[in-house]
Amino acid sequence: MTTALQKYSKHLCVKNLILQACKCFDTIPDYRPNHCSNGIPFSNFAKSAFAMMHQKYDSLLSFDTDQADPVIRHNLETMYHVKDGKVPCDTHMREILDPIAPEEFRKPFKKLFSLVQRNKLLKAFEFKCGDLKDCYLMPVDGTGLFYSGECRCNECCVKNKGKRNESYYHNLMGGCIVHPEQKTVIPFAPEAIVLQDGATKNDCEKNAIKRYLAHVKREHPHLNLAILLDGLYADNPTIELIRSYGWHYIIVAKDGNHKSLIEAMNALCDQGNLKYHEITNKEKGTKHWFRYANNVPLNASDFAENVNVLDYVETDKEGNRHTWCWVTDIELTEETVEEIMIGGRCRWHIENQTFNTLKNQGYNIEHNYGHGKYHLATNLAYLTFLAFMVDQIQEMTSPEFQKALKERSKGVRTYLWKLITRIFLSWFLEGWDELFEAINKGIKPGRVKINTS
Ligand SMILES: [Zn+2]
Repeated sequence: MTTALQKYSKHLCVKNLILQACKCFDTIPDYRPNHCSNGIPFSNFAKSAFAMMHQKYDSLLSFDTDQADPVIRHNLETMYHVKDGKVPCDTHMREILDPIAPEEFRKPFKKLFSLVQRNKLLKAFEFKCGDLKDCYLMPVDGTGLFYSGECRCNECCVKNKGKRNESYYHNLMGGCIVHPEQKTVIPFAPEAIVLQDGATKNDCEKNAIKRYLAHVKREHPHLNLAILLDGLYADNPTIELIRSYGWHYIIVAKDGNHKSLIEAMNALCDQGNLKYHEITNKEKGTKHWFRYANNVPLNASDFAENVNVLDYVETDKEGNRHTWCWVTDIELTEETVEEIMIGGRCRWHIENQTFNTLKNQGYNIEHNYGHGKYHLATNLAYLTFLAFMVDQIQEMTSPEFQKALKERSKGVRTYLWKLITRIFLSWFLEGWDELFEAINKGIKPGRVKINTS
């Protein structure tokens, strides 16, 4: 893998990832009546907003204050392709980004994913289990993005409608390719859980996942996926939808929601028709106990999907027991149960390595940068997700990034973001290579730093 990544690293380096994303921003139609030919080029709005997210600014105002500095304008041009250093002020940026259809911001995700795929990086995420070939684990889940008792836009979902405590919120559905041995993830474009056109009822996760999966299928028709979901989605319609796309699934089943499934498993147990498997990991002192059956009706409905059911108990070295139950379409055998268990547990990567990182590791995804009337909150969230995607690919492929993270930031990403921003704000840079050189080797003698005070 190392050889392949080194060989292809120039396509997956941060410089090219940002260039490709910016080329996608160039294709967003300029809806301004006269295209402001003498003003700010249209794509500069998206590029500046992306730069703000990628540099982990926690407010549009502080970005606005900094962008007046000639160093920042220069660096926005050399590193984020903001033409002629023409950067919009915060109000203008909000105004112009607000009406742009969020679909426009899906394009860079697709473009970067195709680079990951074409340059064989995706291979490092292949889920190997039984007869599966070229299959990838994709957890999908929803998360809160925005909540307010006052501020609202046309897309806001409404809680306690008409009551004194009426409040407004946006949620987001996210998904990514994960692997049990990879610390990083490859995200797809998220899907906003917001009031849909013409709808009177709030949007919800169960509706959003249909749109989410449809987008992924349309944009990546040949990708073979195993979808990882929590118990909310262990139902006939979701499983039928996943199967209709030719994908696999590993979904959590919970006692409370799947009474008849548990009863069916108990009946099979009484008849002696369940299979068992046990693995002891002497090194870690853990025990893994599996109980499974194939082709069990998911529920009591006449049209119930038949699923394969895996009960699993892990006993750690202190004797604590942790239990899980999954339903899947992948055949359960003595050879596959351990891989399916490991795959099923990867569902947490969407929570821990994705949403948690976006909320608590410098990306400020829950921060209100300005809500707008139409799509501003959604568009800025998409750009935050895109900044995260660029960083994740970079972390996997860039030796300079890895060196900076390991040696200059002691493995703490938030500290590396600060180092990157400090150099970005202080020195005229010709590009990303120079920035990482400055971090890893120090600033070249003779380089001019502008006094911005
Ligand atoms: Zn809103």
